[in-house]
Amino acid sequence: MTARTLNLDDSLYSYLLDVSLRETPLLKRLRDETQALPTARWQVAPEQGQFLALLVKLTGARRLLEVGTFTGYSALCMAAALPDDGSLICCDIPGDYNATAVRYWQEAGLAERIDLRLAPALETLAQLSGRFDLIFIDADKANYPSYLEHALRLLRVGGLAVFDNTLWSGRVLESNPDSADTRAIQALNRALKGDARVDLSLLPIGDGLTLCRKR
Ligand code: CA
Repeated sequence: MTARTLNLDDSLYSYLLDVSLRETPLLKRLRDETQALPTARWQVAPEQGQFLALLVKLTGARRLLEVGTFTGYSALCMAAALPDDGSLICCDIPGDYNATAVRYWQEAGLAERIDLRLAPALETLAQLSGRFDLIFIDADKANYPSYLEHALRLLRVGGLAVFDNTLWSGRVLESNPDSADTRAIQALNRALKGDARVDLSLLPIGDGLTLCRKR
């Protein structure tokens, strides 16, 4: 027994997936196809996708926003958890992988719920207004602090911003990182701790997932 978060070795992680992952054959196929790409590391872990879907249902979210969509795995998980009148706006830059995302959304019958906007996310976010219920952020890390500000502007009170990769494979521990990405994640993490605008939890799921509830 321990009072700290457990380290998952390979066998315990396999067990976690074995007893809890309910990945559909379509999601599994999308994950396998994405694994063949040189940028496969951009894909969320399957248990993260399932957790995001649970968050959508727990919060009763109807209006979703995703910043960083890649081949569409997390978007597919969240869109499937929406009620029939729910919607998801996805932000990504143009790339070969956009077509993969759309192809799987169509195959799932969920493409009508998803509005993919191909432009630098900061441009798309600046054009958005209104009240989103949940925003998932998994894009260029150097802009994470800016994405937080947009998220707090766009979320309703009680809405949830979710940031991926906030443990950054442990590189958040570096004292003088060369990488602007690492510095931005460190800055976000430190700033969030004292940010009175949000309730906060950093979960060690996947590469670290930070939940911020707008107060
Ligand atoms: Ca990620």
